[in-house]
Amino acid sequence: MTSDPAPSAPTTPVPARHRDTVAVAAGRPERVVDAPLNTPVTFASTYVGRHDTGQGGLGYGRTGNPTWQALEATIGALEGGRALTFSSGMAAAQAVLELHGPGTVMVLPAHCYLGVAAAADQRAERDGWTLRRVDVADTAAVLAAADGADLVWLESPTNPMMEVADLPALGAALRGTARLVVDNTFATPLLQRPLAYGFDIVLHSATKFLAGHSDALLGALVLPSADAETLTRLVGVRSLSGSVPGTMEAYLALRGIRTLAVRLERMQHNAGILAERLQAHPAVRAVRYPGLTRDPGYATAAATMDGFGSLISVELADAATADAFVDGTSLWVFATSLGGVESSLERRRRWPGELPTVPEGLVRLSVGIEHVEDLWTDLRQALDAVV
Ligand SMILES: *Cc1c(COP(=O)(O)O)cnc(C)c1O
Repeated sequence: MTSDPAPSAPTTPVPARHRDTVAVAAGRPERVVDAPLNTPVTFASTYVGRHDTGQGGLGYGRTGNPTWQALEATIGALEGGRALTFSSGMAAAQAVLELHGPGTVMVLPAHCYLGVAAAADQRAERDGWTLRRVDVADTAAVLAAADGADLVWLESPTNPMMEVADLPALGAALRGTARLVVDNTFATPLLQRPLAYGFDIVLHSATKFLAGHSDALLGALVLPSADAETLTRLVGVRSLSGSVPGTMEAYLALRGIRTLAVRLERMQHNAGILAERLQAHPAVRAVRYPGLTRDPGYATAAATMDGFGSLISVELADAATADAFVDGTSLWVFATSLGGVESSLERRRRWPGELPTVPEGLVRLSVGIEHVEDLWTDLRQALDAVV
């Protein structure tokens, strides 16, 4: 939506807009009288063409849709690159893996999103990939593992141990050596923007914070605008695999992003208060939240992120205690997933793929936007019952 400035346009420099504003203002239709403010949901498998326009235009629903394009413009503006959306975060992840052939050497977090770890394991088995799992908080270990690697895949903070990677240092040291990917699902573009540090691809499970209401599955990749070549390859992968977003999901995610800044602000506010109180409760052995000054991730998070996020992990005595605790809550929902307006929690080791380095009694909390005192009252009574 560029238009030539009028000859008399003022030349006073306008400061770049804050991301909270971008989340609201980007990806809107042109302002025309009686046009809707929001990009409508376009249900279309096929578009009207013309014999003389050849392959130009949208053509068919698997190659493009105005509703996804509005969402992509918005996510791209937030991350500072060009976005492509997918049917889920895993579809986006698979599209990146698809760029790499047999024999790929891949670095990935010791504590990694389980679906990504499983997809990497499949390639190790099928295509002879070498996987190097590292603690992302240990910069020297990541750099050592990245030596000779083709693909470096990072997550920060990690799931569910909340380790924090020094992304600016890693980006500066590794740029140009391998394909560098950051799964930015936990932090969102409001808290960190890896492309600015030299990373090549940012991944989002937009299912989580971006859509934010636990009602849509959606994924996104964001690339630097200059990397048209990789973008074109990824468009090809998406089109041939058919892993395109649903139109309704794209609409819901874009609607969700409009309120991302206020949701996140409230969630973080709640998380900060709850993390402190959880730490002081006798049933809790340890709390992992990068916003606690005693947390191992605090210094890095404080130096590199614009906030500490809204995920907290707490360790209770053992699996039985943790199960009794999650069963004892009534406002908090026992559920996997995260980043919704509703507070939810789960014991992570209930998942067979979760590593033994995650304590049996570890419960991950996704803090929502409810009143913090109600959230605490519910947690406290459930904790009191298991001391
Ligand atoms: C949920 C999640 C994914 C996968 O996204 P889906 O939308 O569920 O396919 C990837 N990475 C992280 C960190 C996630 O939390």
